[in-house]
Amino acid sequence: MLALIFDTDLKPWDAAIRHAAQVVLDELWEEITCLPRDAFNELSDEERGRFKAIISYTNQAPEGAPQTPVIHLRPSGFFGPEYGQGVVPDASGLALLNGTPVLYGDDAVEQSTRGISTGADLLASTYFLTTRFEELLRPDVRDNHGRFPGSESLPARAGFIHRPIVDEYAAQIRAWLQALGVALPARKRRFKLLLTHDVDLLGRYRLPFEPFRTLGSALLGRQSVKTAVECLAVHLGRRQDPMDTFDEMMALDGQVEAEVYYFFMAGGSSQWDGWYRIGWRRTKRLLRKLMDSGATIGLHASYEAGARPTSIADEKAALERACGCEIRHNRHHFLGWREMQDGHALAAAGINWDSTLGYAEVAGFRLGVCRPIPLFDPVELRPLGIEEHPLVLMECSLDQPHYMGLDLPGAEAYALGLLRETRKYGGEYVVLWHNSSFEKAEDNYLPALYRRLIDHLRAGEEAV
Ligand SMILES: [Zn+2]
Repeated sequence: MLALIFDTDLKPWDAAIRHAAQVVLDELWEEITCLPRDAFNELSDEERGRFKAIISYTNQAPEGAPQTPVIHLRPSGFFGPEYGQGVVPDASGLALLNGTPVLYGDDAVEQSTRGISTGADLLASTYFLTTRFEELLRPDVRDNHGRFPGSESLPARAGFIHRPIVDEYAAQIRAWLQALGVALPARKRRFKLLLTHDVDLLGRYRLPFEPFRTLGSALLGRQSVKTAVECLAVHLGRRQDPMDTFDEMMALDGQVEAEVYYFFMAGGSSQWDGWYRIGWRRTKRLLRKLMDSGATIGLHASYEAGARPTSIADEKAALERACGCEIRHNRHHFLGWREMQDGHALAAAGINWDSTLGYAEVAGFRLGVCRPIPLFDPVELRPLGIEEHPLVLMECSLDQPHYMGLDLPGAEAYALGLLRETRKYGGEYVVLWHNSSFEKAEDNYLPALYRRLIDHLRAGEEAV
């Protein structure tokens, strides 16, 4: 058993500190007793002596059984009366702790006979990333869809979006404890692959009057005759729709050990929503086929629900009617989960698993972790009741010119770099490929990249 103690005057931020500690201490959290300093001081010497080590988030090093090793994290002042009033750390001036950027505090580390003391405020640094705190501090910075842009984020600006630095902090704390001779439980976490597919469209040609529209456009020279002919052939059942790529995806996903998810839209009336109906017979047939293949079905909350989260419950109910089963998983369309506190509506609708939190503009570790974590509302200082499985890699982040704009070799190298990082920490490699991205086109390298990624994943660690 380990103790985490924090200064008594930080009690109003008790829940926030516990959240940060739970995330950064990771698997060790199950071993931790977390308590304010006054409660710790009331323990008898015998009770304090039972702790294998003390992690102390206090201004002064704690007293305790003198033989107990101590890791002393000096608070930077992030939690306290000034909470939420600071500025975002300077991207070009971050201290490095053994090569890992420290967002709050400094890189000082002192070792004594009793233990290790550091000025690196790893709890505040963790909390800043996992609660999207930067978005609170910069409420005016949003893109034209109301989202905080990835390129504006501190991880992107400071050049560490491709590294799960909170997992690096966790490894550092573990290494310090081991260096102090503390016996720790073995690592249990194992690398996991999550292949996920957002279904924005069932097919390219989706409406009953589509052949007439494309034919009209072709006659006016706005569309090629080839497209009009293809559309007609699809509608007559002579050809498969080029975006109906589900069989191909199922075959590829079946080649590796992975959890497979499909997220379906079930509402929304904005111009970015409603490209198919969840109640169509065709949609229901597809849902059944995917469920029979062993995939999990989740809600792809609409663009509109991203802006008005209370409608998530209705969308979830519509999807449940179509599936005939309970839905507990979600990813927002457009990754459009606008503000962290909107998550309360998601939880109220009965969804406790989400995988929205990556940036569209840049792939990587938006929350600084490569593993599932509980989410926390930094405004109301309470847990959201949602387990987040952060999105690591979305295909269109890689190839779109207005996002990363990489060519095939560049995209493959970047994707494998993220995979290596995720493997290193026994994390979850959460990959998103839309069915529409498998469409065959000369300038679309995404089907080839997916195949190469599946080959790497099948070959295992040594091939990466
Ligand atoms: Zn979508």
